Amino acid sequence: MKAPRCDACRKRIRPNQHEFLLRDLDAGQVIGRYHTRPSCQVAAAKYIVPGVALHGTVYHPERCGGDLESCDGGLPEWAA
Ligand SMILES: [Zn+2]
Ligand SMILES: [Zn+2]
Repeated sequence: MKAPRCDACRKRIRPNQHEFLLRDLDAGQVIGRYHTRPSCQVAAAKYIVPGVALHGTVYHPERCGGDLESCDGGLPEWAA
């Protein structure tokens, strides 16, 4: 499986990194994939505007194990 590219920095999102997936709930489409590091989240934040039903999901790499409750994936507060 090919690693997706981050829409902010255009680098690959590796399987051992957290991935932030931004979805348009109305259209049912994925509109962006980002790293969870702050510099990439700034780009994702542009899409978070009032009146648009967007949903962000963080996908955890395997090294997070089963204890995802305690992992914030490095997300900033606006996405929590
Ligand atoms: Zn990135
Ligand atoms: Zn994690």
